[in-house]
Amino acid sequence: MLKQDNLVFRFHGDHTPALEKLALKLKETLEAHGYHYRWYSISPRLVLNFITDDEVKPYRRRAQATFVVSMLEASQSPQDPIKEWYPYLVRGLSNMLLVYIPNKETHFLTLDLAHFIEPEGNRFYERLFERIHPMASSVLVVNNRFEQDLEPELWQGDELTRSLSEAGCKLGQWDLLPAAFPIDKILSAEDFRHVKRLYGIGGLSYGNLSVRQDHHRFWMSASGVDKSKLSEIGRDILLVKDYDSTANAIVLSVPPNVEPRRVSVDAIEHWLIYKEHPEVGAIIHVHAWMQGVPTTQFHYPCGTYQLGRAVAEKVRQSPDPASAVVGLKNHGLTVTGRSLAHILDRIDGKLIKHVPME
Ligand SMILES: [Zn+2]
Repeated sequence: MLKQDNLVFRFHGDHTPALEKLALKLKETLEAHGYHYRWYSISPRLVLNFITDDEVKPYRRRAQATFVVSMLEASQSPQDPIKEWYPYLVRGLSNMLLVYIPNKETHFLTLDLAHFIEPEGNRFYERLFERIHPMASSVLVVNNRFEQDLEPELWQGDELTRSLSEAGCKLGQWDLLPAAFPIDKILSAEDFRHVKRLYGIGGLSYGNLSVRQDHHRFWMSASGVDKSKLSEIGRDILLVKDYDSTANAIVLSVPPNVEPRRVSVDAIEHWLIYKEHPEVGAIIHVHAWMQGVPTTQFHYPCGTYQLGRAVAEKVRQSPDPASAVVGLKNHGLTVTGRSLAHILDRIDGKLIKHVPME
């Protein structure tokens, strides 16, 4: 399952002299770690996409598994790097943006708004590799398969889906659902559709929540909807019934006559946790932090099997898997509970809005 294909990488676009030097060193380092360079490949695993201030040429992938790092040269770090540089990440249709300030440092920005810096110096290229590799080699599980087999008595939801709406409201009141960067304002309609298809990103608000329905199924918020206004079944709230590992797809039960939305990209993570721990009744994921929580080791992208597995491992190691708080490195928290109320009670007043970046 989810076997790693050959780690082929290629370059795309024209580079400045400083970026060329960086790219060649990075190429050597990637090769030393088993990646294979091809000057052309239809579905490479990794693309280093060179962009400039004036020209952001996107690399249009043919395959979902292709990870694109757009590479930009800058002369200095702006006041607010995310605000200044995030548009380049999005316009390049990239998963990650690398900004190189020659003789000083390299900044990384990711789609989920993480930002971290590697200063030049000892093991510089190795450190760059260690930033890129966990993300480039992980597998997205953002495919959805909708089956119109939801029991009629659940078409209007039930007690559980109402508890989900209420918990979403609460997170909204706590101001934990920041509007995501307005991706749809930066991209053309066509590129926005492309981004949504690739990452399952809707662009309205971050975080997600779910509640167990029965032994093998759970309700979860949809992707890209306002989590403080969850109401319609099949559109705002979806019933996850399975993960099809052959098709690498999340399987959802939906009512007829509803144009379903995609489920949150982190459904795979929740699925792994519910499957392993029958006593877990609810899960909430927010982009906030809590003091002293056990944390995953690598920064994996949202919606990947690897992130799901890393979080599930931390939940397993906690003294009570049904009341675990796990830090997702550079990203946020995943909190389990016996119910949504059990989670909200435990995190109330303890959340720090700023996620530490390392
Ligand atoms: Zn997240």
